[in-house]
Amino acid sequence: MDTLLLKGKPVRDAVFAELKEKVSGAPRKPGLAVVLVGDDEASAVYVSHKEKGCDEVGFHHVTHRLGADSTQESVLDLIGSLNADPAIDGILVQLPLPAGMDQDLVLQTVDPAKDVDGFHPENLGRLVAGSPRFVPCTPKGILRLLRHYDLPVAGKNVAVVGRSVIVGRPMSLLMSLKSPDGNATVTMCHSRTANLAEVVSRADVVVAAIGSPRALGTAEIGEGAIVIDVGINRIDAPERPSGSRLVGDADSAALKGHVAALTPVPGGVGPMTIAMLLENTWEAMARAEGLDESS
Ligand code: NAP
Repeated sequence: MDTLLLKGKPVRDAVFAELKEKVSGAPRKPGLAVVLVGDDEASAVYVSHKEKGCDEVGFHHVTHRLGADSTQESVLDLIGSLNADPAIDGILVQLPLPAGMDQDLVLQTVDPAKDVDGFHPENLGRLVAGSPRFVPCTPKGILRLLRHYDLPVAGKNVAVVGRSVIVGRPMSLLMSLKSPDGNATVTMCHSRTANLAEVVSRADVVVAAIGSPRALGTAEIGEGAIVIDVGINRIDAPERPSGSRLVGDADSAALKGHVAALTPVPGGVGPMTIAMLLENTWEAMARAEGLDESS
């Protein structure tokens, strides 16, 4: 079987081009503030990608870098001032926060109208209620990718492996909503799922979001399935000058020829996440200015 590679870059480029066009006719630039606390290496890389994305589409952006020894109060104060700043439409707190900080409290302090990551309980509640405002960027990007490749999930059996608030849980909700990108029958799996391979192998569409390198292969994933590999795992690769490489949660080498479609890692879901972050920031600005969000 030929396996279609669901590349994110062309879809990301199209979203970027659309946003650039919108910004050129907007009353002002959308503004994104990133709060980066501590010295997590991967977080610093993700933040630099977000900064580059903002530059590319012409958004105003500012990154607040706070030391790992910062107090929780100083983080909450900073978020309070960003909530009140009219030039800032979107606030993103880069996760994970240093140990000891109350992540839930920090995320709840972000003004829900500026919560472009969609992690505030109000925005998550709206998603559960079926009237989403800000949708978490990775699951939103996956829906956009599937739409681009004309792979609707309606009526399909979907297994979402992973139940995090960032990926798995909102993904399961979105795919099961009564909506053009939804209408799937979704099974949400996790580390306590009994007979995981049996459950996953019945799925037409598998979303792998567990953070375990190449954990899902031909033993778990059925022939002809569509596989969305969210995982980003750094593994040793002594043959490379850097000594490491990125792989997904799916065993892509084994799955090529076995499944109908697969997102590459890197270059599949990752570029979509940033594109959706910028789209959410545009929507926040459009709402703040009373514009038609889609125009
Ligand atoms: P997370 O918060 O660690 O959650 C992992 C989930 O997977 C948990 O629900 C866990 O179950 C489940 N799980 C772990 N091992 C399992 C196994 N062997 N079988 C079944 N379920 C298992 O991770 P996350 O934040 O959702 O991220 C998942 C992966 O996606 C990571 O590699 C991350 O780097 C990547 N990611 C990529 C993007 C992107 O833009 N491409 C964005 C976000 C995350 P329990 O709940 O039972 O513990």
